[in-house]
Formats: sequence, C-alpha cells, structure tokens
Amino acid sequence: MHSPLSTLSSLVEAIARTQDPEAMMDTIVARLSELMQVDVCSLYLCNPEQDTLVLAATRGLSTEAVGHVRLSLNEGLVGHIAASLSTLNIADAPADDRFVYIPETHEQAYHRFMGVPLIHLRQLIGVLVVQGTEAAKFSDEEEAFLITVASQLAGALHHLQRSGSWLSTTPKDAYQRFQGIKGATGIGTGRLWVVDPHMLLDQVTPGMHSDAIAEKADFNEAIEWVAEELEAGSGRLGHHLPGDLQALFNVYQMMLNSPELKQGVEARIDQGDNAAWALRQVIEGMAGLFDASDDPYLRARSEDIRNIGQRILNQLLQHERQVIETPDEPLILAGELISITDLAEFPLQRIRGLVCSGGSSLSHTAIVANALGIPAVMGLEHLDPDLHRGQRVIVDGNRAECIINPPEALLNEYQRMILEEQRFFQDLEKLKDEPAETLDGFRVRLLTNTGLLADATPGLQRGAEGVGLYRSEIPFMIHESFPTEEEQLRIYKKVLAAYAPRPVSMRTLDIGGDKQLPYFDITEENPYLGWRGIRFTLDNTPLLVTQIRAMLRADIGNENLKLLVPMVSRVDEMAAFRRHVERAVESLQKEGCPVRMPAIGMMVEVPSAMLLLPKLAPYIDFVSIGSNDLTQYLLAVDRNNPRVSALFDHLHPAVLVALEHILQQCDDLHLPVSVCGEMASDPVAVLVMLAMGYRSLSLSAFNIPRIKLLIRSVNRTALLPLLQDARRLSHESDIRALFMPIVDAILAPPTSENEGADSAAH
Ligand code: PEP
Ligand code: MG
Repeated sequence: MHSPLSTLSSLVEAIARTQDPEAMMDTIVARLSELMQVDVCSLYLCNPEQDTLVLAATRGLSTEAVGHVRLSLNEGLVGHIAASLSTLNIADAPADDRFVYIPETHEQAYHRFMGVPLIHLRQLIGVLVVQGTEAAKFSDEEEAFLITVASQLAGALHHLQRSGSWLSTTPKDAYQRFQGIKGATGIGTGRLWVVDPHMLLDQVTPGMHSDAIAEKADFNEAIEWVAEELEAGSGRLGHHLPGDLQALFNVYQMMLNSPELKQGVEARIDQGDNAAWALRQVIEGMAGLFDASDDPYLRARSEDIRNIGQRILNQLLQHERQVIETPDEPLILAGELISITDLAEFPLQRIRGLVCSGGSSLSHTAIVANALGIPAVMGLEHLDPDLHRGQRVIVDGNRAECIINPPEALLNEYQRMILEEQRFFQDLEKLKDEPAETLDGFRVRLLTNTGLLADATPGLQRGAEGVGLYRSEIPFMIHESFPTEEEQLRIYKKVLAAYAPRPVSMRTLDIGGDKQLPYFDITEENPYLGWRGIRFTLDNTPLLVTQIRAMLRADIGNENLKLLVPMVSRVDEMAAFRRHVERAVESLQKEGCPVRMPAIGMMVEVPSAMLLLPKLAPYIDFVSIGSNDLTQYLLAVDRNNPRVSALFDHLHPAVLVALEHILQQCDDLHLPVSVCGEMASDPVAVLVMLAMGYRSLSLSAFNIPRIKLLIRSVNRTALLPLLQDARRLSHESDIRALFMPIVDAILAPPTSENEGADSAAH
C-alpha cells in the first residue's frame, strides 16, 4: 500500500475536482479499490430519513444494484456496522451469522470483509466496505487506513447524504423534500417560478477598453439607471407594503452611492479594464471584506453588495428584464438569492413563498420576506430550481423546508395549516401596542437590536420600546475610511431621532478580530482573544473620542442616547472609557454644544466582567448581557465554528448559573440589566429568564411579536418551580425539554394533525 498520507490527500483532491455527486462517489470507490488492491469497494449511505442504508456506489459488485440495495440499520454485516458504529474485519463473511445474502449484488464469491462506519459530527452518514476473495482478515495497517479514510470522507459526504440528491432513482417530478435554513416563518403553496438570472457578475471575464471616457460614461449611466430602478421599485412596493421596506431600498441606494464603488471602478477603468470587469473586481473586493467576517450579520451584508453589483452589470450589458407575464395563480419564487427589486417585478399578492439556494437567515432576502410576511427558506444548496419549473411547491418557513410535488393529501393538510396560521398572525398584530406583561403582571421591556439605519424602522413597527443594542461597527464597514465625526453624526442622529423619546443604547465600535475594516488590517492568530472592542478603541483614542463626540452631538434634541461598551474584561477599561466621555462632554460644552452626560453601560460578555461587577459598578449605569459572546467565552466554544456548534448552547447550565449570578449582582448594586444576545429571541430561554426575574430583553425586530405573545400568555409564578427543576439539571437538552411544552402550546406553528398524510407520501 502507498504511504497513507499521500494516498489520502490524492483521494481528497480527486474528490474536490468532481462536481457531480455520482462521479464523486464513484471516484471514492474506484480509487480506494485500486489503492487497497481489493476486489470490492462499496459505499453505502443512509437515506435522508436515516432509517435505511442504500448502496450508493461500488467497484466489484453489480452496478445494477446501486440505488436498489437497501438495508435497514441492523440488517446484515453492513447494518451491524451502522447499528454498532464500530469496525468489522472478518475472514469469512458468508460464514458469519449476521451475513445476509442479497442476490442483486452477486457477492457470494467474496470472503474477507471489512467495513467502517462513516460518522460526521456524531452522526452516521453511511458505511464504507472492502471485500476480497481470500479468506483472511485484513491487516491492522489496512484497517487503520480505512478508518482514517472514512473519517476524512465523512465530512465531504455529509451534505450529499443529507440532501438525498444521490438517490438517482428519483424522477424529476417525484415528491421531494429539501431542508434549508430558516428565512421567514410561515407556510405558502404555489407553482415554482424561477427568477432567471442575468449574466452573473462572477461570469464576467477580464476585458480591456479602448476609450476610458466612454466606458466611464456607460458605468455612470448604469448607476443612474439602477438608482431610478430602485426608486421606482420602492415606489411600486410602497403602495402595498409596510413603510420599513423603503429603508431597505435605502441600503441599496447607500451602497450605490458609496464613493468606494464609484471611485474604485473609475480607477480600474483608468488602468485599462473595461467597465464590467472593473465592476466585478470592485464589488468582489467590497463583498470579500464582509465575507471574511465571522459575524453572520456582517457576512450577510456581502449579498447586498453583490446584488447591487449585479444590477449595475445588468444595465451595463443592457440585459433589461423582459416584461414578466406570470400565470394568474399563486407563485413560489426561486433563485439563488431574490432581491427586493426582483420582488417588485411580481404582483405581490401572488407571491406565496421564496426559496433560495443561497443566503442565510440574516440575508436581506430573509429580512424583506419577514417584513412582507412571505414564508422563505434559504440555503437550499441541493435544490436545482430549473428542474422544477412550474411544479407545485410547499414552502414551510417554520421548518425551513421546501416540498416539491406534494401528494394531494399533504397539500390539503398544508392548506389547513395556512388558514390556521393566518388566524394566529391576525392575533399577533393586535399586540403591537400592548405591554409585554405576564398574566400575573410581571412587566418586561422589549427592545430591539439594530445596526443599519435601514433596520431601525422594523423595530418601531413591531412595537419595540427602544434600541437595546445599536451595533455601530456596521456604518464603519461600509465606508472607505474611518467615517468623520460629521458623517457619523448624520447617521446616529437619524437613529436617535427615529426612536426618540425611546432610549437607544449605542455600542461603541466592536471591531477587531473577526470584524475587519477595509482600511485597517488586523490579522491575529486568535482573534476572539485579541484586539477587539474596547481594547482596540482605547488603543486608538482619536477614533474612540471621535465616535463618542458624534454620538453625544447626535443626542442633542433627542436626549435618548445611552452608551454601551463592548468586550470589557478589566476595571481600568471602564474607568478610562468614562473619563473619555466626561472629557468629551466638557470639551463639547466649551465649544458651545449643549450635550449632556449620557448613561454609560457595559456589555457583560467576558466572564471576568461578570465576576468583577462590584468593582465595575462605580463606572457604569447599566449592564447589557451579550449572551452570544458570554456563551462563547464561558464554554470555550467558538460561536462560528460548525464543528463545535452542537456544543454552543445558551441554555448550558453554566450559562444559566452565570445569568442568575449577574442578575443577583445587578440587583444588589442597583444596576438595570438587559439581555441583548440571541438568547432573547429563543422562547425557551425567554421563559427561563422570566423565571429568573429578567425584565428587559433586546432582540431582532422580527421576533418581538412572538416573544411578546409568549410573555403575555404565561404566569410567571408557574415558571418558578420549573426553574427550580432546571437548576438541578446538567444537560441543556433536558432544560429545553422542561420548558418546551409551554412554548409549543403558545407558539407552535400549526403542524400536521394528520400524520398519515405526511408519512403516506414518503
Ligand atoms: C453578544 O455577544 O451577545 C452581542 C450581542 O454582541 P455581538 O453579537 O455583536 O458580539
Ligand atoms: Mg458580543
């Protein structure tokens, strides 16, 4: 056998070069049977429902058996490996009691048999088997090699396995289910309508021009065109939609007008690139900065930039969209991503759902879908909309599922759920101006998290009582250099004015580490433990002072500013910050600006800040718990690393102990406290925090109505014994299970009562 390591890397490289699933699986079995010099190498994968193993590829067995041989978990030697999750290496397979003969495979001539389970993130993906005519066990070296190969391949195969797209027996018009990422809740049904892309930006190839002036003129004309198109689109939608959509159009306008875009493209045209090629490079550069961020919110912003780039390209290439004649029936729009302007081209009342092969729950497609109440599923990597044009589709935004060609019974069941859901939302709307108060009178303040100006209004529309977290780094990231005091002033003023007199907690710059600025490179080995938040801004005082001054000035006439400091881990950081604010107030007043000293808050997201609260109290007026980072730093689990994502849970008993400790300390120190991480959007966590006694939560605008309904539907006193029980539990899933029935009873989206309708269709 070759050196295991070089063999492995050549195999992994060969897989990486293959696009199509069948070719990929074929490469695996072909290369492995060659390398291990065996007569048979077979790959079995679990079906997406995880109850059957299917022969997915083979060298040596009859290829006609591929896709047809199906074993239940525990059936035969392969099933035994799957059930026991252990390796099996035997000299004579047919002599083994567990052996099951499957005629289609013609396998009786083989004796030696070795199989290993393929496991990714503790989940069974399938089984990899080698066989030979000799009646002798495989060597220890061969066994170790196969185990190593299996551990490497499981990661590459797991997406494929889950999608079920490799089950080649599936006809194109068959009933299929695709699992994606939640975009917007709700259920819709209709015919699949593919939003056809124009020539894609990433298909533009390098090209030169012969006339820079003409090229720049074309580019500027395209920008104007898109600006007008956006204007018209927002106008058209504006008649039908909540006012906050207008703000989302403004984000595109802002990007369209950003000097970085215009000057960047013109500079490249000056260097000889044609406009389309210059545009692609500049857009990719801008989007890449956002892509590089570990923060999912910021990563999602790169889509906006690409979207706007695409629209400019469409104009440059004069590929104007033809007038769309859509059938007069409900539609489910499908595409890689669907922009606001794409939506504006369809009669709104006909759009019943969106399915996107790209994007995430923080994509603007998802934000818009939420604003419009259109169910949406994002990140459906394995759905090829082209294959399903015109087919009937169910979009289940509650379960992040897209169902193609559902059988009649299932469709009827979903129609019933849609009606039920409509009634639920009518009830939610009535709550906008109602207080978030439990049945037994425990009042909670619901604030919103925001970052873009565009995101400000949805909070107001959903009854937010203020902004609990304004992430100020976002305006910094869409700029070409540090924004000046005046530029910041304009932005902050708009946010404060939109909410006045409701309070707005503006957090100072939380960059460094994962959040990069285009114009300030920070590359570190261990970014989460590095130059981040207050550590960065205190070391760059002019930047911090400029930001504080802009915020203080924006507060004039609004009087609702509160300052919030991220990533505090030491007392001297808060002391220094307070001094900077006091000095800024003093010097602005000397300059004749009637600024006032705002309340100063501290994010508790580093465990040391939680433990030092009594020492920090003299420097702070309130506390805001960043549960995302607090969980990350308490559990030593990277919040963005999918390998350990199963370990990241804000219901971990240690996090709950921390939350109770913080609340107790804050009560003793008379410090108001709020929670602003994702935890505040998780209904179970909200019940736990209610029981603990938390009275202020800050969450995304879209979650406010549901959380308000939850709060208004429970008796806090009834939650107290559950919290007692939760304190005794050691596992987050047990804690979740304890509160889940209450959440389900109040918020559970309508589900199929008729399970028969669902399962009959499998
Ligand atoms: C947090 O850490 O929970 C938080 C709200 O801040 P961010 O997600 O911006 O780090
Ligand atoms: Mg944080």
